[in-house]
Amino acid sequence: MKRAYEIVEHDYDVVVLGAGGAGLRATLGMTAAGLRTACVTKVFPTRSHTVAAQGGIAAALNNMADGDDWRFHMYDTVKGSDWLGDQDAIEYMCREAPAAVIELEHFGVPFSRNPNGTIYQRPFGGQTLRYGEAMARRTCAAADRTGHAILHTLYQQCLKHNAEFFVEYVALDLLMDDDGSCRGLLAWSLDDGRLHRFRAHRTVLATGGYGRVYFSCTAAHTCTGDGNAMVLRAGLPLQDMEFTQFHPTGIYGAGCLITEGARGEGGFFTNSEGERFMERYAPTAKDLAGRDVVCRAITVEILEGRGCGPNKDYIELHLEHLPHETLDTRLPGIKETARIFAGVDLTREPIPVLPTVHYNMGGVPTNLHGEAVAPRNGDPDATVPGLMAIGEAACVSVHGANRLGSNSLIDLVVFGRAAAQRAAATLQPGERHPPLSRDAEERAIARFDRIRHASGSRTGGSLRLEMQQIMQRHCAVFRDGPLLDEGIERLERLSSSLVDALGLQDRSLVWNTDLAEALELDNMMGQAMVSLRSAATRTESRGAHAREDYPTRDDANWLKHTLAWLQRDGSVAIAYRPVHLHTLTNEVETIPPKARVY
Ligand SMILES: Cc1cc2nc3c(=O)[nH]c(=O)nc-3n(C[C@H](O)[C@H](O)[C@H](O)COP(=O)(O)OP(=O)(O)OC[C@H]3O[C@@H](n4cnc5c(N)ncnc54)[C@H](O)[C@@H]3O)c2cc1C
Repeated sequence: MKRAYEIVEHDYDVVVLGAGGAGLRATLGMTAAGLRTACVTKVFPTRSHTVAAQGGIAAALNNMADGDDWRFHMYDTVKGSDWLGDQDAIEYMCREAPAAVIELEHFGVPFSRNPNGTIYQRPFGGQTLRYGEAMARRTCAAADRTGHAILHTLYQQCLKHNAEFFVEYVALDLLMDDDGSCRGLLAWSLDDGRLHRFRAHRTVLATGGYGRVYFSCTAAHTCTGDGNAMVLRAGLPLQDMEFTQFHPTGIYGAGCLITEGARGEGGFFTNSEGERFMERYAPTAKDLAGRDVVCRAITVEILEGRGCGPNKDYIELHLEHLPHETLDTRLPGIKETARIFAGVDLTREPIPVLPTVHYNMGGVPTNLHGEAVAPRNGDPDATVPGLMAIGEAACVSVHGANRLGSNSLIDLVVFGRAAAQRAAATLQPGERHPPLSRDAEERAIARFDRIRHASGSRTGGSLRLEMQQIMQRHCAVFRDGPLLDEGIERLERLSSSLVDALGLQDRSLVWNTDLAEALELDNMMGQAMVSLRSAATRTESRGAHAREDYPTRDDANWLKHTLAWLQRDGSVAIAYRPVHLHTLTNEVETIPPKARVY
């Protein structure tokens, strides 16, 4: 049955979807440049997941006078990415990083300070000086609440510039024209229960990651990758979805994060024999090796029977040897987190930890201006007119196969700013909107309506749990062909019958959280599917993608980005895009692939 929905019309130059660090930085830049910008968000801006970022933001400021330089940051990031990152984008990010952090300081971010007044910096995993010779201290921190400080400051700056926010609006789908360009989006307002059409010359996806497809993750419940799913439904590809980052220190049982900054301040791991086992796996960087390396080491220790506790299923993180003053001033937040979620007083005893899903390297492929790309007529870098993506939702790709800690926050502000600059350079404020094809909108409304009236026997919660368990079992730290194939089969069965199985209790339109969660579930299911498929196709080990049946990196065949399309029948189509090995300027040379050891 076809139901009529009232649609409220809004015309803007730009619509930014998402109010995390990436969305707010873009909104600020667009508004300040005189573009009429709507920022649409399903949660209140300062509740976006960015608020939970703890450890800090990377930039080679050299405040610790250790001789740091953006070129070292670039080298570490390329190496951290296991050479899958695009070197032009990485050069851009690392070169722009110091100015971006100083800009944040001037906006008012209350960074921790050195005695001489400069911004405090701590060491993080994979950070080196002089191309691997010594450890660097590159992560700028506001205690262990850096994301909180940045997000609130950016929101205040947006208010100062009278940015327009549409809060508690759930975006449903992109409005794609017949010619393949994006003309805005359709959203459902939780508060008034109506649908809202946002027409815009640029639509910027800043919807964050999709960590919640897994059972155990550090991300907020809202991290369901809605923007990625909208891109899939628009018939566009997502890139490198097989690369999911596990963080070595999720609290055992709860999954909450203990920042890498804890090891940056001197924390270390032991196994059940009391051994500092990281010395065996990464003789130089030890506990501060790349996250993928540390997660595999912990997993191997547990699998080989050296886990701690009665079930030998976790590892211990020690901070009790650190001066109390360091804990109180540099890590006050995790002291509280450890007490609440592990029942541990970290000044006296170690914290039980376990690798937990933390970050999605994959997402919407873009160039370094934040413009979405999709191969067309033999051009792998062809842009999708009207569509942009930034932040964790995007795959620029600066993180490649593995992101270094504190490189996400800098990615948000550098590319949020770049997207605003690009829009300002290519748009005139107040340009007229061409008439819109009705097709895309009708499809979006039909999907919304179908899910709203789903009348199967299972709750969204039980279906979500089944999906999360499949991903946790079949697409975790170590993978192999048969395990992935079985996961695909199980997920196909679940997702093909999703709307038939699903039953909603509440069909109202005002503040219907049952419906909002069902829409998120549908979004996650598509991403889970392309992630599994992309992982099954890549027959090598690189960065966070560790195949037991293909344990080595294979540059001859696999130094390329995976692109995955979700077809209307639910199947996945795969193709590839070349990695940008070239740099942006001739000030630096390409960093050629070599073995990645820490
Ligand atoms: C616990 C934790 C700690 C971290 N610590 C660090 C750190 O110290 N350093 C670091 O560099 N990185 C860290 N990270 C990673 C980093 O914080 C994230 O990658 C980053 O904050 C993502 O920002 P974002 O702007 O892309 O998205 P988010 O902050 O996740 O924001 C997404 C936005 O999109 C909106 N949205 C999504 N879907 C819809 C929809 N359908 N309709 C309307 N709005 C929608 C949401 O309302 C929200 O405003 C951490 C991550 C976690 C989970």
